[in-house]
Amino acid sequence: MVSDDNGTFPHDVESVCPVCGLKKVSSEKEHVLIHGGALLLDEESESGVQAANLVDNLQAFLFMGWESNHGDGTYAELEIARDVTKGQFSLLFCSTKCMRSFLNTCVDNLEKQIEAVKNEFS
Ligand SMILES: [Zn+2]
Repeated sequence: MVSDDNGTFPHDVESVCPVCGLKKVSSEKEHVLIHGGALLLDEESESGVQAANLVDNLQAFLFMGWESNHGDGTYAELEIARDVTKGQFSLLFCSTKCMRSFLNTCVDNLEKQIEAVKNEFS
């Protein structure tokens, strides 16, 4: 999970792909990424230009979730990024194959949580 003040995972630019562990992922090498977050918009100027700023007082998050159809607030969720300062994060992978594997693993984990929640309330 990505959190706190280092919005890039893996944290070290010399790190290897978090899925296969074989290839280095850094800005100097070809890689794919999931990049998310928010920017704080300035007031639009008279010329119509509106600046977007990376600021310290934003926190980014990325969850996968499930909500029951009973309207009772039953839910399950998988946190991928939480409380990331400056509001932006990046998850780096060596290839789309590894990105797909990561996302499939996330969905598999979410499904396990959904099943556990359903079993708890059945
Ligand atoms: Zn990889």
